[in-house]
Amino acid sequence: MYDPLIEQAIASGQGYPDSYWASVSGEPPVSKDRLTEDLDTDVVIIGAGYTGMSCALHLQRDFNITPVVIEANQTAWGCSGRNAGFILKSTGRKSWTQMQKHWGDPVMRMVYQEAVEGVERVHGFINEGIDCDVQQPGYIRIAHKPNKMRELEAQASLLSSMFGYHVDILSRTQVHQQYMNDENAHGAIRFEDGVGINPLKLAFGYHDLLNKAGVDVYTNTPAVSIEQYGNRYRVITEHANISCDKVVIATNGYTPKGFDSSVANKTLPVLSQIIVTEPLTEAQLQACNFITSNVVMDTRALKYYYRKLPDNRILFGGRGAITGKSADDPYYAERLLQELKRSFPPLADVRYQYRWSGWICMSLDDIPHIAQAEGSKGIFYAMGYCGNGVSFAVQAGKRLADKVAGRAVPDIPLYNRQLVPFPMPAFRRIGQWAYFHYGKFADQFL
Ligand SMILES: Cc1cc2nc3c(=O)[nH]c(=O)nc-3n(C[C@H](O)[C@H](O)[C@H](O)COP(=O)(O)OP(=O)(O)OC[C@H]3O[C@@H](n4cnc5c(N)ncnc54)[C@H](O)[C@@H]3O)c2cc1C
Repeated sequence: MYDPLIEQAIASGQGYPDSYWASVSGEPPVSKDRLTEDLDTDVVIIGAGYTGMSCALHLQRDFNITPVVIEANQTAWGCSGRNAGFILKSTGRKSWTQMQKHWGDPVMRMVYQEAVEGVERVHGFINEGIDCDVQQPGYIRIAHKPNKMRELEAQASLLSSMFGYHVDILSRTQVHQQYMNDENAHGAIRFEDGVGINPLKLAFGYHDLLNKAGVDVYTNTPAVSIEQYGNRYRVITEHANISCDKVVIATNGYTPKGFDSSVANKTLPVLSQIIVTEPLTEAQLQACNFITSNVVMDTRALKYYYRKLPDNRILFGGRGAITGKSADDPYYAERLLQELKRSFPPLADVRYQYRWSGWICMSLDDIPHIAQAEGSKGIFYAMGYCGNGVSFAVQAGKRLADKVAGRAVPDIPLYNRQLVPFPMPAFRRIGQWAYFHYGKFADQFL
């Protein structure tokens, strides 16, 4: 599998992974395939995931700027077509408690407002007619150990007092009786407004809106490099060049090694793995009291997440391999299946039918960065959602568009700071390996 920490370039012409989403979402919308002739335009957006497509839509709709979008492979070939489809009010990995401590109440409130707008923005697009199998709303965060309930209760109380955001607190019995009989759940908190969708259909919907708006998306067109000439830029692609005033890098965890100095060595791509089981029978569902289609995540440092899909399959996810080379090793899918069975012992005989993984994009300070590259006249980027980008990447796309058009954006660390370089970037994988070991220890003993 492509490994962005090792490979200098991303190949074109790669199909979607053999995922459940690819099997139920139909064909991608029509795109312009493979750019073969030079172009001259105002803005080039590199990457057709949620970030790139949202930025393109907002440039077109809010500022009447028609960009050109180029994508190395297919629409949403990266994370946007591979994720678990949880729409959550979130902005990276930094907790609200840490934001309050590091930045103070006013900034934390502004960040919360951006998270709220991200979710509203996605629902706004869905309401324009995107059919992406929206499920019953609700996000359940389960305590994987009894002592984790204290942390969840503190989080609920902070959200309620700071933002008036009501969160239900559920005992183990309530979780088991009203939602699902997860043996690993020792209580939970439940947010009314998280929801599960089909992420690839959502991305296809964004692409349809771009087609309607007359924005060209060139698939199978990897950017090789960005060159500056005078006040302008030239994006060098495999077969042709695009001259432009501004460039947006929306390549997130799939950015090839050393692609551009504005982002090189400033993120850590980490594999998240998903399995999808065969459809559960009525007897299996009843045995697990699996009533809910809410999206579920636990309190582990190395989190597991799951949801029941519209056809009664279970999607179950967690960390994957460390390198691209080992990504397809069935060991990682098997590990998830065993964890699913520990949560739901009546599923002892269940098998998985799909497995795949994708590169989430970690930043050193656990927050996404949406920025004009330092010292550049016209290079912009947004990345580092730390596995929380279904809604926030869309908000980031909006704020990128504002920046490209010269509009002010809220003065918060997500928008006013550059990505932070990793110290000793060559050793990022060793750091990740050490964190996984710490996480295993913490999840068992702390
Ligand atoms: C397994 C998994 C589960 C997840 N689950 C959730 C979830 O439930 N909820 C949630 O909020 N988030 C989740 N995420 C994270 C979320 O999917 C991402 O944050 C989001 O999709 C990022 O969108 P993006 O457009 O920035 O990046 P991507 O969707 O990764 O798009 C980047 C695109 O850039 C292209 N590209 C790269 N280099 C070049 C180049 N040189 N030239 C041209 N194109 C290039 C790639 O091909 C890719 O299509 C999950 C991620 C994974 C992997």
